[in-house]
Amino acid sequence: MKVAIVGMGISGQGAARLASAQGHDVTLLDSNPSAQRTTDAQAFFGSDWPSPTHFDRIILSPGVPPHLNWIKKAKEADVEVDGELSIAAQQIKIPILAITGTNGKSSTAHYTQQLLQSAGKKAFLGGNFGIPLSDLVLLQDEFDVAVVEVSSYQLEGAQYFKPTACALLNLTPDHLARHLNMETYAACKRRIFEHCTIEDVVITNTDERLFPSPNHRHWILGQDLGATLTKEHLTLKSEIDQRQMNCTDVPLIGAHNYWNVAAAALLCHAIGIPLADCDVTRLQPLEHRLEPIRNLNGVQWVNDSKATNVEATEAALNGVSGPQIVLLGGAGKNGADYAQLLPLLTEKARHVICFGQSGQEIVNGIAAHPNCHLVQTLDAAMQLAHRLSSRTDTVLLSPACASFDAFNNFEHRGQTFRDFVLQLEAS
Ligand code: ADP
Repeated sequence: MKVAIVGMGISGQGAARLASAQGHDVTLLDSNPSAQRTTDAQAFFGSDWPSPTHFDRIILSPGVPPHLNWIKKAKEADVEVDGELSIAAQQIKIPILAITGTNGKSSTAHYTQQLLQSAGKKAFLGGNFGIPLSDLVLLQDEFDVAVVEVSSYQLEGAQYFKPTACALLNLTPDHLARHLNMETYAACKRRIFEHCTIEDVVITNTDERLFPSPNHRHWILGQDLGATLTKEHLTLKSEIDQRQMNCTDVPLIGAHNYWNVAAAALLCHAIGIPLADCDVTRLQPLEHRLEPIRNLNGVQWVNDSKATNVEATEAALNGVSGPQIVLLGGAGKNGADYAQLLPLLTEKARHVICFGQSGQEIVNGIAAHPNCHLVQTLDAAMQLAHRLSSRTDTVLLSPACASFDAFNNFEHRGQTFRDFVLQLEAS
């Protein structure tokens, strides 16, 4: 079969490896003239692509907008066009546990893998996070179950994706440059359960915009059938099982993480694992997500560099107890409403230090805070935080912005924070 792969990001490269390994005649396409090639397939990088009618199947990377003229032409000519996620998933026979949402996808996917392993299952983790699903196709015999993080871009491009169970964690404004408005963004996310049957479990929070149709098995984070959370307890419940655990047994920061753990345990349960077999006591946070780095002279330094939107920062502010010095800034997203953070910052932050390209805009949004500082760079923000901090403070990097004004990505920003903290001298 003549297969074109459009977009040479991580997923496109995975799709190319798989299609080549399966003996297809593969062509790589990318509008970036210096795109990466990882197979020796023929490639057209730049604007000069062969006609879509030259191919039997076109596989899209999630980064590729499906409204490209070239793709429209392919569809008009009845060439099969599908996303990498969907092509790979249809070749996977082990159960797929899929996770989407605006915030918490990676954390929840990571917790799900850890809980599955604690219950003795060999669990693959990939998709939008880490290893592309295409790479699992030829390795699936080595695993019992696949945990798949799914982005709205992947769902948008997928013709047929059917997980065994899925969680749609939450929905707040994000990626609206591509999805245009909340309705189309929500519709994309809801595609995660579009092909689920009456036996497949769908987990959502209480946001009715995310609900599946009434004939799905639906467990709700925030209701009895699903999970409920009090200050002391997290309670999980299905039609056949129930478990209550102490919040203090979950070694993670923040109520949002208890909800993520609830979703993870319920996903495991959806494939038959008793709730009691999920060991929540040894869960580890992912790097750059409310990750404690060091306690130095009574000051706790926490790296939440992955908080690239206001809601993730709200979750962090809510999650950290005690007085805080909060570092906000970077490349803000269009339409971000920083004033939304003011009540929590007023309640919890002794100092707020704003930095980077959107630093001034953030200061404008939260000007009513009594101790709001503006500096140019993250480095200057960390220096100032160090000078202002005293015993029992938490210095929290939870920037509410993307990192691209000064860093390659959020990992690079988080690593810079970590390096700074680790070189501080104890006094
Ligand atoms: P995603 O993969 O969806 O971007 P991550 O797990 O990487 O999510 O977390 C991104 C940011 O959102 C981190 O700052 C994290 O602390 C925060 N976060 C994680 N889970 C939630 C949640 N359920 N609600 C709100 N924020 C969350």
